[in-house]
Amino acid sequence: MAPVQGKGNYDYDLVVIGGGSGGLSCAKEAVAHGARVACLDFVKPTPLGTKWGVGGTCVNVGCIPKKLMHQAALLGEAVHEAAAYGWNVDDKIKPDWSKLVTAVQNHIKSVNWVTRVDLRDKKVEYINGLGSFVDSHTISAKLKGGERTITAQTFVIAVGGRPRYPNIPGAVEYGITSDDLFSLDHEPGKTLVVGAGYIGLECAGFLKGLGYEPTVMVRSIVLRGFDQQMANLVAAAMEERGIPFLRKTVPLSVEKQSDGRLLVKYENTETGEVDSDVFDTVLWAIGRKGLVDDLNLDNAGVLTHKDKIQVDCEETTNVPHIYAVGDIIYGKPELTPVAVLAGRLLARRLYADSELRMDYVDVATTVFTPLEYACVGLSEEDAIKLYGAEEIEVFHGYYKPTEFFIPQKSVRYCYVKAVAQRNGEQRVYGLHYLGPVAGEVIQGFAAALKSGLTIPTLMNTVGIHPTTAEEFTRLSITKRSGLDPTPASCCS
Ligand code: FAD
Repeated sequence: MAPVQGKGNYDYDLVVIGGGSGGLSCAKEAVAHGARVACLDFVKPTPLGTKWGVGGTCVNVGCIPKKLMHQAALLGEAVHEAAAYGWNVDDKIKPDWSKLVTAVQNHIKSVNWVTRVDLRDKKVEYINGLGSFVDSHTISAKLKGGERTITAQTFVIAVGGRPRYPNIPGAVEYGITSDDLFSLDHEPGKTLVVGAGYIGLECAGFLKGLGYEPTVMVRSIVLRGFDQQMANLVAAAMEERGIPFLRKTVPLSVEKQSDGRLLVKYENTETGEVDSDVFDTVLWAIGRKGLVDDLNLDNAGVLTHKDKIQVDCEETTNVPHIYAVGDIIYGKPELTPVAVLAGRLLARRLYADSELRMDYVDVATTVFTPLEYACVGLSEEDAIKLYGAEEIEVFHGYYKPTEFFIPQKSVRYCYVKAVAQRNGEQRVYGLHYLGPVAGEVIQGFAAALKSGLTIPTLMNTVGIHPTTAEEFTRLSITKRSGLDPTPASCCS
């Protein structure tokens, strides 16, 4: 694709709407290749009034604060384990929510500041305004004190999404979402986490680790879209740590009691039984909605599909000079590195003569629950659906992390599996890992899988001992064999 800057009489070659992971990477890459670029970013406050700076979901209310709080919870666990390793630890240690929130928010603010400086240095014009289309080459940016009309040759829509609220009494007035949690000005206390997607489970996990009392309410299944055997092991590991799961249950209403606590009525969808409980916090984690409403996409002729935008394999919408990347696009993984790479590759195709397209297949991901789960490639059920059960071999095994022995941590749910082609070269289709530092473990295997990893190669790979990642190289038991996948020893 030939570079397109300089054509037509527009204010900019490119306007990016949305200054999050995808938008920023696209804007910066486009400028690096000579385009004149503006990037709009605007955050509408939550019903509670929470708002944040430039950088999008990941930095402000997503991956980063989530990982920091997960780390805080893991550290608490590690301090208690330290006693077993011979450290003299005061067993009365407890976390301070307000100090944690301050530390997390200070980090976020520093990232916001660095982001703005970076945009200025790279000559991307940052506009703190809410963008909406006037026509397919013009947007209007609603600024704090007015409005500005901007024209551009090309647009990239990277507006991401925000958490949904259920349509029940009291949901918006009394409930919060992940958009509020990481800056909450009081301890969450006993928390009802409604939703068992990865965000709900991660929040419940770190809240428990920080000493609070989360309960997870699940309407149907846990971790929809993930391998369901692994998903159920994740949930079981959380239950073992004392996090209750209310299954097949939906909330009916939230009321504020005179003592300020929240009375939640809920219904079991199988029995119809209605019950209630009192919580300090209700956290909605029931999914996210694409932010298409403010964009006035009709004015530009861009079509939407279920609050998202459908794009082709080059991230082009139905309007040829309007593109979309990141969480706003329909049917692709909603992950920061996906948005970042898609944005960067798009800018290179637009302004640097590149033809490289984003590959959305075999994207690795991690669920940062107390016992972490990471995977890459196909789930067992998807592999069976795609190739048929007779063509799939699943290698699996439980294992015992060395570092769990001395503090006598439960190894019950430490488990790995490889989903592979049964015959022929035995190509590995999916790798699944439940255990410590899951993201670090699976990242390298993701490169191997994308390079055509086979079971013989995996088994001929010499492990690093003693690590948990080496468990993938020790896999020898197939599900089909019916042999016991629990380990006999750690070192043979
Ligand atoms: P965003 O980062 O959401 O950026 C869009 C920006 O556009 C926002 O600032 C928005 O306010 C702004 N905007 C919207 N409409 C307009 C408009 N009309 N005009 C101007 N600006 C507008 N991903 C991972 O890879 N790993 C993780 O561990 C992880 N953890 C997560 C944890 C949580 C709690 C959440 C909520 C998400 C997590 N994600 C994680 C997902 C990740 O944050 C998103 O995939 C990523 O931020 C998407 O980037 P984006 O550029 O598409 O959108």
